[in-house]
Amino acid sequence: MSNIRFKALEAVLTRTIPEVKTPSAKISDYFAANVFDKKKMREYLSKEAYDSIVNSIDHGEPIARDTAEQTASAMKAWAMSKGATHYTHWFQPLTGTTAEKHDAFFEPTSDGAIEKFSGDALAQQEPDASSFPNGGIRNTFEARGYTAWDPSSPAFIMGRTLCIPTVFVSYTGEALDYKVPLLKALSALDKAAVDVCHYFDKGIEKVNASLGIEQEYFLVDLALYNARPDMYLTGRTLFGHMSAKNQQLEDHYFGSIPERVYAFMQDFETEALLLGIPLKTRHNEVAPSQFECAPIYEEINLAIDHNSLLMDLMDKVAKRHNFKVLLHEKPYAGVNGSGKHNNWSMITNTGKNLLSPGKTPKNNLMFLTFFVNTIKAVAEHADLLRASIATVNNDHRLGANEAPPAIISIFLGSQLNDVLDEIETSRISKKLKEEALLWQGIPKIPQILKDNTDRNRTSPFAFTGNKFELRAVGSSANSANPMTILNVIVADQLRKFKLEVDKLIKKGEKKDLALLTVIKRYIKESKAIRFEGNGYSEEWEKEAETRGLSNVKTTPRALDVLITEKTEKLFEDTRVFSRREAHARHDILLEEFYKKLQIEARVMGELVNNVIIPAAITYQSKLVESVRGLKDIGLKPDTYAAQLDIITKLAEHINFIKTNVDKMVDERKKANAIDDVREKSIAYDEKVKTFFQPIRYHVDKLEQLVDDSLWPLPKFRELLFIK
Ligand code: ADP
Ligand code: MG
Repeated sequence: MSNIRFKALEAVLTRTIPEVKTPSAKISDYFAANVFDKKKMREYLSKEAYDSIVNSIDHGEPIARDTAEQTASAMKAWAMSKGATHYTHWFQPLTGTTAEKHDAFFEPTSDGAIEKFSGDALAQQEPDASSFPNGGIRNTFEARGYTAWDPSSPAFIMGRTLCIPTVFVSYTGEALDYKVPLLKALSALDKAAVDVCHYFDKGIEKVNASLGIEQEYFLVDLALYNARPDMYLTGRTLFGHMSAKNQQLEDHYFGSIPERVYAFMQDFETEALLLGIPLKTRHNEVAPSQFECAPIYEEINLAIDHNSLLMDLMDKVAKRHNFKVLLHEKPYAGVNGSGKHNNWSMITNTGKNLLSPGKTPKNNLMFLTFFVNTIKAVAEHADLLRASIATVNNDHRLGANEAPPAIISIFLGSQLNDVLDEIETSRISKKLKEEALLWQGIPKIPQILKDNTDRNRTSPFAFTGNKFELRAVGSSANSANPMTILNVIVADQLRKFKLEVDKLIKKGEKKDLALLTVIKRYIKESKAIRFEGNGYSEEWEKEAETRGLSNVKTTPRALDVLITEKTEKLFEDTRVFSRREAHARHDILLEEFYKKLQIEARVMGELVNNVIIPAAITYQSKLVESVRGLKDIGLKPDTYAAQLDIITKLAEHINFIKTNVDKMVDERKKANAIDDVREKSIAYDEKVKTFFQPIRYHVDKLEQLVDDSLWPLPKFRELLFIK
């Protein structure tokens, strides 16, 4: 019998590698060719319109109507010259993917047809959005929502469609997407950071947060993927015994890239570069068939749009290569999972990276100010940062002894740790009354930290020379969520810092001393969050507990912090979320959580009953026949002892699986009857999900027992090693 697994394997063996063409040998020849960036604006817009739109982009000013009108026709002219026929508002609803609804430029007229794109159509659209997640916001008021142009992220062409990045809000003004809160957080950070910058440099007018996202992913052949219903319905394998060869030889990481994969990489990179995504790095990752790519960092809003676009592109381009890109955080149990390292820093309009130590002591004080405030912010709101990365998928990584733990801690590297310890124990306030001595109170910070910072892969939040790296973000997540939180907590912290320093100055303290005094106190107050050791170790879990750090391992409980009074106040002070929006998000995240588990539980039940048990029984029957035959010809029982043993083992596993799937279904029914979404999520997590591992264990045992030619699902060795 040729089952779908063998058909898939045959397909893989006959794959050819598609030829990949790049527009030119030099990337600079085609980089951002499909983006309506400032360069193209200058070409297509009048000088006045250009100045006006650039002013809006740089300073967040509202766009005048005739500027919108001119920009729309310029965009249309440019897009049509590149073969575009349609336009769409492109946005990031809370589904985790991007959304678009295409409209043609074409419009019939009384005497024929014209191509039209008005300022209104550019500025605003009303997608029928009642089916996007909204956490109750859209049910209570108007059902309408609208998308509005975000000029800070340039329009681009995908296929034959002009895509306009937009925000998505309800008719009553609540955010229904990832972008609105992010933009608010960035503006809060800008204001707070500029205010603090003025202690050092009055010339600084703007602070942008920057972000470089390292994206990990797995590749699997499309035919094998399609032969695994668990993969195409849930994004991960619910069953599968570990391959005999796995990652133990460590021969994949940074090894040479397989040719078929290389072609795919070149192809999606070319498309990404055309869209202005500055992809720079590609390499193999630790696990077999796992890879990573990373662009050069950009302003956050753009970096996140680009990452969303990149995930889309990778998926599309992969089909041409008969690959499937797995962005799931944990596609294979027992093999490393995937994350999205978020490299973050703050950069001024004068080009200064505020997290980069400087040459002079004064510069160092500026660095220390932003550095220590970031640490303090994370220490104050570790739970919120933890919540911002909480998803059902990421639960497989966090707290599962695999990078990084659910305990938020900060790694600084020994040099900077020493610097902070030195400041903490120095008797600053007394000896620094004199100007000259003040600078001696600030320890020297080595300028070139980058090569010296020890690499600590187990830390969820690590300082790496001139930036912090949040490593706990899931590979399939939209980074906007964690980045909104990170920027908001730092903004809030800087605002508080300014108030405290000003108060001391008002009391007659010298500015530098006032700064240092508050910094010193912050170092002390945030000490517990600093950890340089192995984040995966059991000792750390224990130590973290004695330090009072929280360790919430699962999503439904981690999310509780979103609706506490403390968080509510933070969101209100920084205006990032209204109370209603925060509660709506809390609901949406919980719903996503239990729904995904519900799907996994169903798929598990179906596969067990319809695919796995039947395969095991087929094999068992063959053995029974064999035993009967041997008996018939008069052989003694010890000649078929092996068969009997296998038959018994098969029966044990089958019985275990069957009874436990039945029990799981009962628990699912109970969970489904719960109304409260938090309670329901917890029930799914603690009553339903708990069956997954034992069921899987016995299914994987069956996989090892059953005749290979009867096993219907592609095995790990095939998924991970055949390319
Ligand atoms: P590594 O993590 O191995 O040190 P890189 O130094 O190459 O890797 O950087 C990883 C990512 O961090 C890249 O996307 C890079 O552009 C980005 N990055 C570098 N400097 C900054 C910065 N100041 N702010 C934000 N991201 C940065
Ligand atoms: Mg990194």
